[in-house]
Amino acid sequence: MAANTILVVEDELSIQKVIRTYLESENFQVVCVDNGPEALTLAQELKPDLIILDLMLPGMDGMEIAARLRQVSDVYILILTARTEEADRVAGLRLGADDYLTKPFSPRELVARVQAILRRRRSSESAVNTLRFAHLTIDPDRHEVWTPGQALELTTTEFKVLLELARHAGRVLTREQLIDRVWGMDFYGTDRVVDVYVGQVRRKLEQATGESLIQSVRGVGYKFVDTRR
Ligand code: CA
Repeated sequence: MAANTILVVEDELSIQKVIRTYLESENFQVVCVDNGPEALTLAQELKPDLIILDLMLPGMDGMEIAARLRQVSDVYILILTARTEEADRVAGLRLGADDYLTKPFSPRELVARVQAILRRRRSSESAVNTLRFAHLTIDPDRHEVWTPGQALELTTTEFKVLLELARHAGRVLTREQLIDRVWGMDFYGTDRVVDVYVGQVRRKLEQATGESLIQSVRGVGYKFVDTRR
């Protein structure tokens, strides 16, 4: 298997050097840049497996780089930050960063985090059924739903409702279709039951992601609208 390539975006040369040394000793291929524009170009050309991104950079800062990366790629991002405020952490995760580390950090810890992210990738790639969206990852085999920052607690029925909608992302499912697929023969209620369950799922998704990922289509049914990764 080819070595994993890590792109390091960090303007402090001493830190660049430490990161390079530790990652190379674990057989990673390491490319370092010290600014945003170059990072964006290399992210497209190299297609690295993971990007280590410092937030405090001259010119284009790390947050902006992360946001731009997310528009064009689903590359794994580990953020390095000297800022410790919770708000920055949350903002980083909302931008789709996979993990973050606060400076000063232990290089061993950094390597461990990188390896953990890449391991997670391999296990989710092997689960071919996994649905990956911009704000959500759904694992049908494990009955798990993840937002970038946290696992989402859903009841069994709520999970089935979300899974059906997500499998038909961008298309409308009628209440009857949802009843057939989620409850099947066991359904005794009225259409209202569907509305209640969809409402609960929609609320939980909104709380976790800040987005309205399920739309009502008046007189027809419901539609899941997150974009696929
Ligand atoms: Ca810096």
